[in-house]
Amino acid sequence: MTGNYFTILGSASGMPQPGRACSGYVLQVEEELTLIDCGGGVSSAFLNFGFSPLQVKQVFISHTHPDHVSDLPLFIQMVYLAGQKEPLDIFLPEEFVPSFENYIRALYLLPEKLPFRLNINSYQDGYIFKGSFKLEAFGNNHLKGYAPFIEKYNLPNKMQCHSFLIEVAGKTLLYSADVYDFEDIKEHLTGQDYVFIEATHLDFDQFIKYVPQVNIGQYVITHLGSPVEIEGLGKKIADSGLKNIRLAKDGLKIAL
Ligand SMILES: [Zn+2]
Ligand SMILES: [Zn+2]
Repeated sequence: MTGNYFTILGSASGMPQPGRACSGYVLQVEEELTLIDCGGGVSSAFLNFGFSPLQVKQVFISHTHPDHVSDLPLFIQMVYLAGQKEPLDIFLPEEFVPSFENYIRALYLLPEKLPFRLNINSYQDGYIFKGSFKLEAFGNNHLKGYAPFIEKYNLPNKMQCHSFLIEVAGKTLLYSADVYDFEDIKEHLTGQDYVFIEATHLDFDQFIKYVPQVNIGQYVITHLGSPVEIEGLGKKIADSGLKNIRLAKDGLKIAL
């Protein structure tokens, strides 16, 4: 199916859920696929929802929590075993690049052995990607709670987590990734067509109160916990009477 689409491969949050993958999204621009985040279960979900590994041109990772990155080596292996010949570009938060390069070699996923070029790129807050779409990365405060440990144990972590603003053929889409709180995302809500926002760290009542103040086409709430938690959010959305908020589901595909 050609056209431009955004598909949720996994709607689960940090706690894996039966039958659902963790964070992973496919941005399809005509024939070209971009994977955004690659948490547990994403490689298999990618196949389950009918995507071809040979159409993936690049992967962006928002931050290095396992529910956003743990499936990445397997995803690269899948692309390799599917017969990829074209280069694959991986974009990682700058702090993660040396560790990831060591990690994949420890997994015998040797870049030197692959029959395609694996480009491991680093990016930071403010980075702008321009290709068949535009992507801008905004650093957020999701990881700032680790600061005391990083300081105490003199760890190299730089607490890099990013939200992505994506523009495709005149449509705009914001993917919050994990945030510290609603304030992290509020300043970036500027009339986008679609906002994919994670529920885990959101004060949902504060969010719902804010929704009428800004003209957003459609909110999709993702990074969802247990069925009971999802039901609770569904009730809050229904009670609000707001029509532009919906809950994510694995496989939800939105035409852009
Ligand atoms: Zn997460
Ligand atoms: Zn996280």
